[in-house]
Amino acid sequence: RRSNSSVIYTGRPPEFPPVKKLNPLNKKRILVSGGAGFVGSHLVDRLMLMGHDVIVVDNYFTGSKTNLMHWFGHPNFEVIRHDVVDPIMLEVDQIYHLACPASPVHYQSNPVKTLKTGFFGTYNMLGLAKRVKARFLLTSTSEVYGDPEEHPQKESYWGHVNCIGPRACYDEGKRVAEALTYSYARQDGVDVRVARIFNTFGPRMNWNDGRVVSNFIVQALKGDDITIYGDGSATRSFQYVHDLVDGLIALMESDYSDPVNLGNPEEYTIKQFADMIVQLVNEHRQRHGDVGKTSTVTYLPAVADDPQKRKPDTTRAKEVLGWAPQWSAVDGLRETVVYFHQIMQQS
Ligand code: NAD
Ligand code: UDP
Repeated sequence: RRSNSSVIYTGRPPEFPPVKKLNPLNKKRILVSGGAGFVGSHLVDRLMLMGHDVIVVDNYFTGSKTNLMHWFGHPNFEVIRHDVVDPIMLEVDQIYHLACPASPVHYQSNPVKTLKTGFFGTYNMLGLAKRVKARFLLTSTSEVYGDPEEHPQKESYWGHVNCIGPRACYDEGKRVAEALTYSYARQDGVDVRVARIFNTFGPRMNWNDGRVVSNFIVQALKGDDITIYGDGSATRSFQYVHDLVDGLIALMESDYSDPVNLGNPEEYTIKQFADMIVQLVNEHRQRHGDVGKTSTVTYLPAVADDPQKRKPDTTRAKEVLGWAPQWSAVDGLRETVVYFHQIMQQS
């Protein structure tokens, strides 16, 4: 019996973002591990808009399909539920390897798994790169510098990491991932890139992932106390996610294979940062005619091994990539406040 024969299944929603039509010679097949996460989904957006074929592999530990929904059904896009701790067979030209939880709360919740992801995940992605001769980019971190004794941090600095502390699963996981990356480059000629990413924020961060930007904005929007761990004198330098995506793509497309810092050198103490967020949230509220409660700062015990200062030296990124951040922290935060406000209104 035939029913609903007038319904034509087109296989796609009515509209996708405007994807460039590439000459097939310039079109690459690109794997993004961790592409359902915060940074990964922004990178996927950019690569899709550029007209490439994009394959995401993700186990959805901290990522979500919602971050990629707008591409579901597009012929250039594919997503595979897969844990990078296990091998996978694919044919690709480039690999952006992001799969790894990035927030201290998440990476410390199962430290053995974090180390397995750091080692076996990177090992499997490098093995794939070697087999199919793909270019491989590792998203490493400023955490390889640990609690730094050099300030700002240059790529030449070897770091100061406590290898038995609570952050070691992440820091040492990334350090071994870098060691593996350069071992594959030396031993097997794999074409590698390493980005050392400093604190990055923006829309699609999980509101409850425990990182300072999401915590402070959500607390300020609710009028709750702003929780500073320690005395608020620790520093961080915050980059907006669109700058990071520019840097990752520029690095992948460059011929430079040593590590490159990607971060915004604007440095704030955590107390300054808390005050700035309270002010931005109040301004946002005023624009919406909403007079909520203004948050006050509360001081909680410091967390173990918390790096006391962090600021990238970005000279190398400028010289080899012609890259420098275009967004100030304040401008990026304004957009992020709007995002979190929308998310809170929907839930
Ligand atoms: P995120 O937690 O939002 O994204 C990580 C993604 O990887 C998620 O989608 C998660 O589900 C996936 N994932 C985790 N373990 C996996 C596994 N075993 N197999 C498959 N998928 C897995 O974090 P993010 O902020 O988007 O960070 C992305 C990358 O950038 C990470 O490698 C992180 O270490 C690095 N990085 C981020 C920052 C930052 O400030 N955001 C700073 C330094 C480095
Ligand atoms: N932090 C804080 N309150 C919070 C969350 C974080 O004071 O609610 C501090 C944390 O102790 C650290 C800084 O903010 O000094 C950045 O923390 P985050 O977890 O965002 O990233 P990290 O750079 O430590 O990986």
